[in-house]
Amino acid sequence: MKRVFLGLLLLILFYNVSACAGKEADTETRQMAEDKSVSSDQNTIMAIEDNVEETEKQETEVTDTGAFNFETKTVLLNSGYEMPIMGLGTYSLDYDTCVSSVKTLLKNGGRLIDTAYMYGNEDAVGEGVRQAMEEYGIPREDIFVITKIYPSQFDDPEAAIDMALEELDIGYIDMMLLHHPGTGDVEAYKTMEKYAEKGIIRSLGLSNWYVEELTDFLPQINITPALVQNEIHPYYQEQDVVPFIQEKGIVVQCWYPLGGRGHTSELLGDDTIVSIAEAHGVSSAQVILRWDLQRGIVVIPGSSNPEHIKENLELFDFELTDEEMGYINALDRGEKHDWY
Ligand code: NAP
Repeated sequence: MKRVFLGLLLLILFYNVSACAGKEADTETRQMAEDKSVSSDQNTIMAIEDNVEETEKQETEVTDTGAFNFETKTVLLNSGYEMPIMGLGTYSLDYDTCVSSVKTLLKNGGRLIDTAYMYGNEDAVGEGVRQAMEEYGIPREDIFVITKIYPSQFDDPEAAIDMALEELDIGYIDMMLLHHPGTGDVEAYKTMEKYAEKGIIRSLGLSNWYVEELTDFLPQINITPALVQNEIHPYYQEQDVVPFIQEKGIVVQCWYPLGGRGHTSELLGDDTIVSIAEAHGVSSAQVILRWDLQRGIVVIPGSSNPEHIKENLELFDFELTDEEMGYINALDRGEKHDWY
């Protein structure tokens, strides 16, 4: 009897232990399954989050191209490079004035300089850049130099580009433009494309290309220009051309922003502009340059005067209202100040 009882006890014990083990195993399996499903849910959520992030990033990248960032004071070009939205034009500056103007700009936080073979001062721009890099500790990567080749050079674009590289002597060229449409422009542009593929020229662009010229030119080339530089000021606003270019993800930059030498006093003395300037406690030049920036147009005012160069960089402590933008828009009179 005692044996039977002991046997029964052992049987019960064995059953309980194995049931318990089974339960534990079940719980463990369930837990594992739950863990698995939680982790797979987490993975799914993470994957969705990653996708959303990636899509958002792509959307930001796409929408950011051409959009001005007023914090960094730059614009992202379709070439993938960032360019400052305000800088210095060097047309008509002689060697010494050009070197010192470039240095003044760079010393005061400006980083964008526009020159051209035609201005005969690429060497001075290069000298100013090199001196500023050394004296003010500015990395080359932070500086953005634009130069242009002229139609008279289109028959040998390689020689023109090599000459620009040599004159500037700052390693690579941030951006090169064809200065005007002309015979051989497509071939010249395609030569620039070859340099862009090697990274010797980082971004490409055009100057003095309007709707008709762009419509004809763009289908013939491979790399969409990152920028078009045209005459734009309150008396010549290109209200149709600017959106036409911008809609293609191409940045617009204006030459003669202050009307050009010989025309500045009328523009800077314009009653509408003067009264807006007074309302904001800034200069007429600053109002015009700010109006450009708010239209999404990059400015490169020319100046040989250190005070003007500094003033032309101070465009971010005030904002024009829609009404003020409208008053300046209404000044347009289709008055070109140069023949091209
Ligand atoms: P701009 O910028 O319209 O005007 C320059 C004149 O404005 C100079 O007389 C300058 O005098 C004066 N100025 C500058 N800042 C001023 C300020 N804050 N207050 C009062 N006056 C001021 O003309 P631009 O220099 O001829 O054009 C700008 C740049 O565009 C050129 O330098 C060049 O790089 C480029 N551009 C390109 C083309 C093209 O075909 N792609 C054609 C023309 C020009 P101070 O020297 O006394 O400051």
